[in-house]
Amino acid sequence: MGKGKVKLVEGGLRHDGRRLDELRPITISVGVLKNANGSALVEYGRTKVLAAVYGPREPQMKHILLPNRAVIRCRYHMASFSTYERKSPTLSRREIELSKVIREALEPVIISELYPRTSIDVFIEVINADGGTRTASVTAASLALAEAGIPMKGLVAGVAVGKIDGYLALDIDEVEDMYGEADMPVAIAPSLRQITLLQLNGVLTPGEFTQALELARKGVEVIHEMQKEALKKKYLDVKVEE
Ligand code: ADP
Repeated sequence: MGKGKVKLVEGGLRHDGRRLDELRPITISVGVLKNANGSALVEYGRTKVLAAVYGPREPQMKHILLPNRAVIRCRYHMASFSTYERKSPTLSRREIELSKVIREALEPVIISELYPRTSIDVFIEVINADGGTRTASVTAASLALAEAGIPMKGLVAGVAVGKIDGYLALDIDEVEDMYGEADMPVAIAPSLRQITLLQLNGVLTPGEFTQALELARKGVEVIHEMQKEALKKKYLDVKVEE
């Protein structure tokens, strides 16, 4: 059992009926905002995240510009209505930290050298939070960057693995995160075969860590295929005016 008294796994199934290696139902839509250069809406079960990308553009704060590449700026924000109890709309320390780790998860795939003295701005708004918002944010943001036409070495997709009642479980939700023993968000750029985000809250043995990473890799593989499908759908569904 985890920290609390909540039973998380019974008869091999989780509290929402999923198997341990099962993702939540995932939906991905690209190009959902008219005014952004690129945007995507991603749902992992009841977690719902919107990403909007602007740029490359010349920001008002010129002192942040770099002579040899674009500056990537990222803001992760949870809407005040996204949580069970109203969240303060001002940026918390957690949101500042997540803005940084999400930016670092995206930077390895962005070919920023092509746009010196510009900024590429990634805005992430959590519309509904039910665990795994940072990993859903990476998945959404990489699609929004792609739709904005930013040259990239590939997409990045993320998923969290957890340890609940002693079992490793893929794509944990808020209850599992809260009452489980460990939470390990992972983001991978499959085209680079590179892990671009890895955090661990809780304790895993070295063996569990290896297994958890493999579970995350399999989850990311599925999500990455869905990302590619969502991009194809966006571009193949374009109607040509007669
Ligand atoms: P992640 O969303 O990436 O899993 P955390 O592990 O920090 O990040 O948070 C787990 C979950 O806890 C969130 O997805 C959300 O459902 C909930 N949560 C986080 N911060 C808050 C908050 N300030 N108010 C209410 N719920 C929150």
